[in-house]
Amino acid sequence: MDKSIDKPYIIVIGGGASGMVAAITSRRLGAKVTILEKNNRVGKKILATGNGRCNFTNINTDISHYNGANPKFAYSALSQFDVYRAIDFFERLGISHKIEDMGKVFPMSDQASSILDVLLYELNNLGIDIKCDAEVKNIITINNGFKVILANGSSLDCDRVILATGGKAMPASGSTGDGYKFAESFGHKITNLFPGLVQIKLEGSFFKRIQGVKFVGSCELLHKGKSIAVDRGDILFTNYGISGPPILQISRKARELLEKGHKPYIKISIIDELSKERLRDILIMKFSNNPNKSIEFSLVGLINKRLIPVVLMEANIDNITRPVSDLSAAEREKIVHILQNWQFKVRGTLGWQHAQITAGGIDTKDIDPSTMESRLVKGLYFAGEIMDIDGLCGGFNLQWAWSSGFVAGQSAAII
Ligand SMILES: Cc1cc2nc3c(=O)[nH]c(=O)nc-3n(C[C@H](O)[C@H](O)[C@H](O)COP(=O)(O)OP(=O)(O)OC[C@H]3O[C@@H](n4cnc5c(N)ncnc54)[C@H](O)[C@@H]3O)c2cc1C
Repeated sequence: MDKSIDKPYIIVIGGGASGMVAAITSRRLGAKVTILEKNNRVGKKILATGNGRCNFTNINTDISHYNGANPKFAYSALSQFDVYRAIDFFERLGISHKIEDMGKVFPMSDQASSILDVLLYELNNLGIDIKCDAEVKNIITINNGFKVILANGSSLDCDRVILATGGKAMPASGSTGDGYKFAESFGHKITNLFPGLVQIKLEGSFFKRIQGVKFVGSCELLHKGKSIAVDRGDILFTNYGISGPPILQISRKARELLEKGHKPYIKISIIDELSKERLRDILIMKFSNNPNKSIEFSLVGLINKRLIPVVLMEANIDNITRPVSDLSAAEREKIVHILQNWQFKVRGTLGWQHAQITAGGIDTKDIDPSTMESRLVKGLYFAGEIMDIDGLCGGFNLQWAWSSGFVAGQSAAII
């Protein structure tokens, strides 16, 4: 690096969550900063976060909410710029916040656009040069720094580069995995990449009949009979399988098992708030109160009507129009079992267009966790989802983007 420079000239590649915070941090420390963003605007993905409300951090953030070959890599950045610093950072930019269930933090306005608006305001306020429609094609090292080559043939020389191009999730937002190629060209390794926080495809021929049915229940990922992950909340049947926040939460582990050639199962409990005994008692009472009702009609009021024929089919009960008084105790037990232990073989997940995050990324072994600088190329820094760190649903991914962006921005600005 050129010792004669007073303050470095930094190019941030990618104007997403991590790139914007990196740019603001470097500029506040006096560096000259340019953001190169291939879209016609910065921060497109932020607008889609938290169903348009932007769940921008989580007060329960700790390392247990992160995945990757070495989740501990995230520890230093998450400590240097922790949840409270993130809340304070945004508070100072004008974002009042509120804390909802499970520690999720949202802007009081309930608008993801507020987060983007204040970031943009600060970028402009600090005089950061933002070049949109500026797709980076290549980065090469030159004497004292880097040459960044754009798709339109032009190039810019700088002292330091912060690579913040995100992963491959939601490619329509601009995150198409370009950064991996740049990192590889410098000798960095990329771990296996796959979509995370994504809907799950299940085996079964009846999903078209129950698509759109929602319930509050629990789901459990099973592998060789062992419980791998559990979650509960709003679950939705779809034409390919299953969706909803708890499903997204367990999807990463499901996909990880599939990637390794395993065949995991998902167990669903439609009625998870009752014990097996209590559910059995309820069925006995229902059936004896109205013995002439059909088996099918006897479940109306207990579960969604559209689920009834499929649940009965899965419980191997035929002729569901016969009176419920005909039902044997063994058949009733099968219904109880399906309502609380319905198991499906996982056949896959949806793809990148539907995923919220990228599992895998630049191997963190070759990155210094306290500075986000490459251990292979001096002056090259990384921020955000591009690295092999991903969080659970709940604000943990944006917290990682802010924390790693801050650390990269700070380290790059200091001579
Ligand atoms: C639908 C959805 C909802 C989500 N909701 C939440 C939530 O509520 N809370 C949460 O914590 N996380 C959420 N996430 C995850 C979170 O948005 C991401 O983890 C985070 O945005 C990653 O930030 P990043 O800066 O690393 O990458 P990105 O935000 O993906 O930004 C990368 C930027 O780099 C640009 N770029 C890429 N290649 C080039 C190139 N060659 N040249 C120039 N520019 C380039 C892209 O256009 C993009 O603007 C959600 C994700 C999705 C898809």
